Amino acid sequence: MTREELYQSIYTHDTIYLPPHEQATAALEVSLGCSWHKCTFCDFAKDAFRIHPMERIVHDLKILAQLRPDDTRLFFLGENAFCMGAERLLAIIEEVRRSMPKVREYAMYSRIDDILRKSDQELKMLAGEGIQALHIGVESGSDSILEARKKGITSAEVIEALRRLDQVGIDYYVTVIPGLGGRSFSRLHAIETARMLNQVHPRNIWCLKLKLWENTPLYEEARRGGFEEMTPAEILREERLLIENLTVKDCLFEDTTVLDQFTIQGILPKQKGELLRAIDYLLSL
Ligand code: SF4
Repeated sequence: MTREELYQSIYTHDTIYLPPHEQATAALEVSLGCSWHKCTFCDFAKDAFRIHPMERIVHDLKILAQLRPDDTRLFFLGENAFCMGAERLLAIIEEVRRSMPKVREYAMYSRIDDILRKSDQELKMLAGEGIQALHIGVESGSDSILEARKKGITSAEVIEALRRLDQVGIDYYVTVIPGLGGRSFSRLHAIETARMLNQVHPRNIWCLKLKLWENTPLYEEARRGGFEEMTPAEILREERLLIENLTVKDCLFEDTTVLDQFTIQGILPKQKGELLRAIDYLLSL
């Protein structure tokens, strides 16, 4: 088999979605789909949720070891791979040690409740075994918006879960969705999201503006007039308000979807002024 064919043989889909920070990380598919699967805006959790059997994981690991023998970091694929219990995660790490002994660090996507279900002792153990970073869609700091979009978490739970990660030294990278409150709740969304994030220590805030996908409940809601979709410029003004209100430390802020064609990026708080000026410039075009 060619390298290309070997890669294809270990992933369910042709396209693999890794967060910006993990683009160069080797990926091992340990699960598929999302265990929650209810957010009304979500289009990317199409697969029925499943955790792959250990035999498949071990088989894929052997192939990945041939392809990336010197890698030291591994990304566990699956919409929320951290939903697996600590015991299962540790068993997979044990297998990685056998097949890819140079790997020392692990990262994956997680929901907030996946963290809350684990005890402090389990989180500490997982951090000790190399789980270094979780990528988490927090989406909004407004409880009413989180509830309306059926995210299944509250802002208090987000703060609690992320503080527990702080305690054990697991880094977290969060995603926020500008526009998720619609026109009526735009201000609330920006201010409450800043309020929530200011109480924790994300390494990175990645904004991905709302896109209404045709096959989602939120699209239907908008069609019936229950949700007012914002224009890209309105969303950017909302994002400006978010940045203005953020007091996070040493945090990379980025948005790869600005006005559907630009990327803005800057370290907060150092580059807050530059980010705001860049947004003002884009809004003046
Ligand atoms: S938790 Fe994430 S992957 Fe799952 S339904 Fe919600 S947005 Fe989609």
